[in-house]
Amino acid sequence: MNWEELKNDQPTVMTMLERSMEKERLAHAYIFEGMRGAGKKAAAVLLAKSLFCQQKTNVAPCGNCTQCRRIEHSNHPDVMVVEPEGASIKKAQVESLQKEFTYKGMEAGLKVYIVNEADKMTASAANSLLKFLEEPESPTLALLLTENTHFMLDTIISRAQKITFAPPPLKKRETIFKETGFSEAAASLLARFPDNIAEEYAEEKKDWIVHGRNLVIQLIDEVQHRPQQMLLTLQEKWLAHFTDRKEQDIGLDLLLFWYRDLLAVKHEKDNLAYPDKADKLKQDALRMSEREVAKQLQRILEAKRRLRANVNAQLLMEQLLLRLQEGS
Ligand SMILES: [Zn+2]
Repeated sequence: MNWEELKNDQPTVMTMLERSMEKERLAHAYIFEGMRGAGKKAAAVLLAKSLFCQQKTNVAPCGNCTQCRRIEHSNHPDVMVVEPEGASIKKAQVESLQKEFTYKGMEAGLKVYIVNEADKMTASAANSLLKFLEEPESPTLALLLTENTHFMLDTIISRAQKITFAPPPLKKRETIFKETGFSEAAASLLARFPDNIAEEYAEEKKDWIVHGRNLVIQLIDEVQHRPQQMLLTLQEKWLAHFTDRKEQDIGLDLLLFWYRDLLAVKHEKDNLAYPDKADKLKQDALRMSEREVAKQLQRILEAKRRLRANVNAQLLMEQLLLRLQEGS
């Protein structure tokens, strides 16, 4: 991805970086915060290239010169990329990075380091990094990439300038999940959840979301055609699958996505949460007015609010299903 392409996806971020570079007012440390697929790493690499490129146009690096190519292939002596080893970034990794920089720091040029998934630094790794930020041997630019700043040490956050990336387009997130081995059905749902949830259920419980989705489809069908079944399904299947409040909230989201799909179909939009159910959604959309769909959406949102207020989940779901069944 080149500078212009990323600027298309992330105009605010890239314009801000451009201005800071033009004024030569880059901070010493940035936190790039944003969802997976937002282009944080691409931005970090482009920024590094821009600082070393020999043939850039304004701030946009050429991508072809020796400097750009060495950065692209991660073998530029002044640009380091740190990634988690296993579940964390360890102190030893940060220290070896520092050693490397000190060693190569003979010519005291700019050093850039990019820490991917910086929230995975152990406390000692983060402290070691902090010292480095405070006493750099030569001009240093730290780019700390994270999906969740609230897992990072306050001391680091306070020493870095935070830049928030816009969420990547839904389609792009879907593609990322598909590329990591998910079915289209699972990917289109996971892409709609915030990253921490999507990743937890993507990695640890791969079939969980698909099973949850099948329950939604079954319940919707029962609400419409076999209401005498729905409370039994709720008790025996739904509550057994969505076991705690967090999961019950996800269950309500899955239900919400179904009714949002109905609205999308009415407005002839594609990109559905349940793409393989487009035919059924179209049939249902014909039978309900837009006002009715909106009302159902409100009922689900209200259930989500009450769930947070600690209302008993079974009671709450029973009431919701009965209301959904009544229709308008
Ligand atoms: Zn270049």
